[in-house]
Amino acid sequence: MPTGLSSALQRFPRHALLDGPTPIQRLAGLEAALGAAANGVRLYVKRDDHMSLGGGGNKLRKLEFLLGEARAQGADTVVTVGGLQSNHARLTAAAAARAGMACELVLGRVVPRDDVDYEENGNMLLNRLFGATVHALPAGADAMAAALERVRALELAGRRVYLAPLGGSTPIGALGYAACALEILAQSRELGADFARIVVANGSAGTHAGLAAGVVAAGLPATRVQSFTTLADVEVAHAKTVDLTAATLALLAQGQADEIAAPAPNDILVDGSQRGLAYGVPTPAMLEAVGLLARSEGLLLDPVYSGKAFAGLLADLRAGRHAPGSDVLFVMTGGAPGLYAYKSAFQ
Ligand SMILES: *Cc1c(COP(=O)(O)O)cnc(C)c1O
Repeated sequence: MPTGLSSALQRFPRHALLDGPTPIQRLAGLEAALGAAANGVRLYVKRDDHMSLGGGGNKLRKLEFLLGEARAQGADTVVTVGGLQSNHARLTAAAAARAGMACELVLGRVVPRDDVDYEENGNMLLNRLFGATVHALPAGADAMAAALERVRALELAGRRVYLAPLGGSTPIGALGYAACALEILAQSRELGADFARIVVANGSAGTHAGLAAGVVAAGLPATRVQSFTTLADVEVAHAKTVDLTAATLALLAQGQADEIAAPAPNDILVDGSQRGLAYGVPTPAMLEAVGLLARSEGLLLDPVYSGKAFAGLLADLRAGRHAPGSDVLFVMTGGAPGLYAYKSAFQ
């Protein structure tokens, strides 16, 4: 029911931050570099790193619906949480600048790093350029608790505050990726491709959940989407993705005649093989994946999310886990500014 999905999406306020569909491109250079290891699979990327605002990235799709809701509520200030090098924080700052709203970022120290690249370069540099007020918390502090305190103080000062959670991953935020699933299906028809798998990184689960809700609403199995967890361990990431997919479908069905059944938990494919020691800690496979895509295609993955997920795609290709002759789409989710905070890992 793609038309049903697009009309269901239209009921939600949306603040435009994208300029239209992002491109889907074939990775002919990578296929050639992989040779027989590509196993005859046709590889494509969805360029969600390729957007005009704020350096681009997957969080802008969520922020279209989050800021739509914020403005509908009359908010003048947006507050969000994340780690120091959060792409979501940087894009919230950029989107708030575009929307004429104030922005405060409450950032925790979730990665065991305190060097100057991590503390001040990459996304941290950009947060300040976009005019956000940055609260960098001491190690061990609870970012959400600190953010709630900050919201109360701002409200006492007369501000109307919208609080966006980690990664923007509410059902409202996930609508951005339900809309993206429709975009992908329309583009695949134009390209004459049929994506057996849509592969993506999983952090706060909103991207996977939104895509899964979208493909299910379009009548396809949720197994078309596969993610690699980079933040939570695999059981936690899987449970969160299952719940958020169901909540996103329920939100889409509100006030609609036909409800869509939530997918079975087994159909939500979350892989735990690529996280490594912890969130934000480089793995050898991530370093190889970032370098390989850079050299074979001139494209930039990021060290925290898409580099690890792409490493998972490469491992699956080399192990013959994608059917020969099938079409596979990797969603490039942005995050290249994070490379500048990982200089030492790439040297
Ligand atoms: C946040 C992020 C992700 C993960 O998206 P979630 O919706 O949080 O799972 C992937 N890639 C990049 C670059 C991100 O910033």
